[in-house]
Formats: sequence, structure tokens, C-alpha cells
Amino acid sequence: MSEKTPEKDAVVKKNFIRQIIEEELKEGKNDGRVHTRFPPEPNGYLHIGHAKSICLNFGTAQEYGGITNLRFDDTNPSKEETEYVESIKKDVRWLGFDWGEREYFSSDYFDNLYAFAVKLIKADKAYVDDQDAETISAQKGTPTRPGFESPHRERSVEENLDLFERMRGGEFNEGEKVLRAKIDMASPNMHMRDPILYRIMKTPHHRTGDKWCIYPMYDFAHGQGDYWEGITHSICTLEFEVHRPLYNWFIDQLKEGEYRPRQIEFARLNLTYTVMSKRKLLELVKENYVNGWDDPRMPTISGLRRRGYTPESIRNFADRIGVTKVDGMIDVALLEHSVREDLNKKAQRVMGVLNPLKVVITNYPEGQVEELDAVNNPENPDAGKRKVPFSKEIYIERDDFMEDPPRKFFRLAPGREVRLRYAYYLTCNEVIKDESGEITALHCTYDPETKGGNSPDGRKVKATLHWVSASNNVEAEVRLYDRLFLDEEPDGHKDRDFKEFLNPDSLTVLKKCYLEPFVKDAKPLDSFQFERLGYFNVDPDSSTDQLVFNRTAPLRDNWSKFKGK
Ligand code: ATP
Ligand code: MG
Repeated sequence: MSEKTPEKDAVVKKNFIRQIIEEELKEGKNDGRVHTRFPPEPNGYLHIGHAKSICLNFGTAQEYGGITNLRFDDTNPSKEETEYVESIKKDVRWLGFDWGEREYFSSDYFDNLYAFAVKLIKADKAYVDDQDAETISAQKGTPTRPGFESPHRERSVEENLDLFERMRGGEFNEGEKVLRAKIDMASPNMHMRDPILYRIMKTPHHRTGDKWCIYPMYDFAHGQGDYWEGITHSICTLEFEVHRPLYNWFIDQLKEGEYRPRQIEFARLNLTYTVMSKRKLLELVKENYVNGWDDPRMPTISGLRRRGYTPESIRNFADRIGVTKVDGMIDVALLEHSVREDLNKKAQRVMGVLNPLKVVITNYPEGQVEELDAVNNPENPDAGKRKVPFSKEIYIERDDFMEDPPRKFFRLAPGREVRLRYAYYLTCNEVIKDESGEITALHCTYDPETKGGNSPDGRKVKATLHWVSASNNVEAEVRLYDRLFLDEEPDGHKDRDFKEFLNPDSLTVLKKCYLEPFVKDAKPLDSFQFERLGYFNVDPDSSTDQLVFNRTAPLRDNWSKFKGK
């Protein structure tokens, strides 16, 4: 039997990255420095997978008194835009992390990278190839069969220097020439088979404009950027493990002292019912399957923010899922659980009716309005109370009434008594219908002795309903979201496009909802719990005369179901 002590637990809880760092710190490596970076490519908005990487890079460095750079890996001018750079900065900041003055771009290193390429040519470790990309790729071989060497592999250093210079000068067309490393066409690692270092692209760059018409490949820029910035731990996702020998090869050619960044790989986050690749998210945006990158159904950080997620809920989620070396799939219900848990502590409670049914309280005095006490947040005693107006006509939820209720329906029905939250006991006496048989109102009576929702004679009721005054309320639009995809792994099907699995009912817009007057001054992104219904926040689409709410999450938590397993 193992004896559990808090110390032991603490050790077990340390993920493998922290273990590596602590061992190195003990050995005095890098003079005790811990320096990480978050290196997004500015070709789209950040998603919840990036949030995992951000929390890991910034969080780990913070823990050891270290620092983190933000570096935009902007080596491909055809896909990158300033809009993305701005959105990325906003999202990292919103998550609660600070890169100080340390904002870098791979494009800052274009001169250094060019000089390094020249150094490789001079050392006979790089050459200009005249073959096109297809031919080069056809010569690569397979992991079990060596590739063919290019007919241009043995060009002289002088000729290579001249050709590379002329590539830079704009003398050749795109695809006419590339610069390749001269490593080993028979290496068991395909990435070592003379990878391309530079290609010609006659596209202006979002930062360097027309200065360059040749651009370094991502692989030729990434590791060197880490080296020049003094990064101690290059934390990245597992797919880069096979690139590591190549990155090390570059650093071997570059480094002068002992220092080199250490690359550590971890498993990327995959979520059920979600696609995470920026390319696919861009497709959803461009083809109008969603309303932009920040559509509340998107797994982007901007979408989650607009949906009502808090930075704390996302950081807690990242902590909970931890880091591993094995690719897996996380249940999206865990993310939803994290936001409920956080909002439960923080959110102001209000009453709101989404599908209204009018109730006329026939024995309530005409024109009378009472201000009743309601609790702002039962989880937080300091949040205090507010007043809710009660009147002769109110709205209740259409679902909370059934004319002919089945046995297990305990809410309102003809002849039945229920409690109105914070108000009175209410009994339904008469159902009013229009010519088509649709229920248009209920006529009810209240018991004036039950003010506050308590009966002095101890009479019990089986249900408590929320309600809103029909004469004193705020009318609002409410947007209900369901999962964007109907399949657990929309991009996990061979021969089927992920878009086939889109949920046609992922958005429901309710135009005439009624909320208690308390919300009238709410600002975009303010969060509320609508009692009995869920968490909602104010959408930035709101205007002064029309509030729009998003449902962040319903109240019911599926996660607790799984927790015990
Ligand atoms: P995508 O495949 O979604 O387009 P990417 O890896 O190309 O993402 P980058 O901008 O290159 O996006 O990523 C920046 C950093 O975020 C990288 O270090 C990358 O490893 C990390 N990252 C990207 N996606 C995930 C994910 N799903 N889980 C964890 N980290 C991720
Ligand atoms: Mg990438």
C-alpha cells in the first residue's frame, strides 16, 4: 500500500516539463534562467488549443521566475496579416499574460537568416537547386528508401553564392530556384534530406514590404529565432519531434558557446465536437458557416470571450487537462464545466423569461407594483440583494405550464399551486386560448399571505418558477447556441468533409424575451445567471435600445456525470 503524503502528491502533480526544468535548475544549466516563448503564425485567430500552449509557456516560466517572449512566426507572406497579429496580442493579454517589451517577429531576423544561409553556402552546407518543388519532392524517397541527390548538389561555393545573391535580387521567377541544405539524402529522417531553406515569393510582406522576394522556410527560421532570443525551453507540439534533428543541425552550425535552446514536445489539445485547425476555421469564416472568427460557436479565444467565457475559466481548464506526451481527445463538456464553475461563483443572478406566456393575477390590485427582495448571488454573501418589481400581469416560461400534465410534471397546471420565486404562491384557474386553440394567457390568483414565497400555514408546493413583470421589464434578443458539429470528431472521417457534420441548429435566435429591469444598464460582455436557465452574457451587437444576450452555457452540467467514472 502506498502512503500518500501532500509532498508526494505535489511531486506526482508536476508535469514532465516542470520535472525537466527542475532537474536543469539543480544542475545550474543556463545560469538558472527559464525563458520560454509563444510562437504563433499570424495566419488566423487563436483557438483554445493555442490557449493551452499560452498557459503552458507563460505559466511555466512564471512558476520559475522566468520570462516569456511573444514571437510571430511570419515567414509566409501569402497567408499572414496584421489583423491576425492584433487579434493574437489582444487574446494573449485577455488570458492574463504579459510579454513586456519582448515582442518579436521572425521577419526581424530576415537579415540574420540571410547571413546564416550565406555562411552555410560558404561552408559547402547549402546549395541552389534549379529543380521545381514537384521534382524535388519526387526525389525525396520514402522513410525506407533513400532519396536521389539533385544534379545541382555539387555546384561550387562561388556559383551558389552568385545564384543565391541573384535570387535575392529578383532575377528569377517563383519556383525557378530554391536554396537547400546539404545534409544527407539517405537519412532515415526525411526532414534531413536536403530540406529547402529559401524559396522565391514575389509577395509583399506585412512588415518588410517589398524588401524581400525570397523568404526562409518556417523550419529554417523557427529554431534560430529561439537561439537568438536566448530561449531556454522551446515548448512545442508533438508533430515537431521529427523536426528536432534538423533544428539541432542548424543550431550546431550557428552556435558559438555552450548554450542552445532545448526543445520539449507535448500533445496538442483535441476537443470533441470541435475542429481546431486554423485552416478549417478560416474555411468556416470565409464560406459564412459562422459569423466571423469571433462567432460565439467558434473554438477561438475571441469566440469564447464573446460567448461569455472568462480568462479564469480557460486557465483552469488548461490546468485541469495538464500536459502529456500522448495525443488524446478531451471531452468538450470539461471546458463547459470550467466556465459554469467560474460563473457560478461570480455571476449576478437575474430572472428572465425566454418563451413568454402571460399570466393575469385576477385578485391582484390593478395598477399596484411591489418591489420584492431578490438575492444577487447565493454563492457570494457580499453581493447583497436587489429589488424586483411584481405586478398584476407577469410572464412565465411557456414550458412551465401544461394544460394536461403527465404524472411527473410538477410545475403549473390548471388547478395547481406553485411558488413564484421571491414573490407569492400562485394558483392557475383558467386557460385562455385564441381561435386556433393556442394558449394566449392564464388567469391565476395569488395568496397575499405568502409574500417572499413562504406559506405561513406550512402548505407545500412542488415547484418554484421564475417570472418577469409584464409592465416593468427589459425586452431583449437572446441567442442560444448548441454545438457547432453533430459528430464527436468532425475531421476524423476519411473521405468526408468536416463541414458535412455541421449542426444546422447550432444557433436559435429568440427575439422577444423579457428580463427584469436590473439588466437595463448592462454592458457588453457582462455575465449573468438567468435563474433556472443558465449563464448568459451581453453580446457586443447590443445597442442602446436593444440588448442582445448570448447563452454561455445551460445550467445543467454534463461533466459531473463523467467525473465519477
Ligand atoms: P493549427 O494547426 O491549428 O493551424 P498551428 O500549430 O499551425 O495551429 P501556430 O500558430 O503555429 O498554429 O501555433 C502556435 C503555437 O501553438 C505552437 O507552439 C503550437 O504548437 C501551439 N498549438 C497549436 N495548436 C495547438 C493545440 N491544439 N494544442 C496545443 N498547442 C497548440
Ligand atoms: Mg503552424
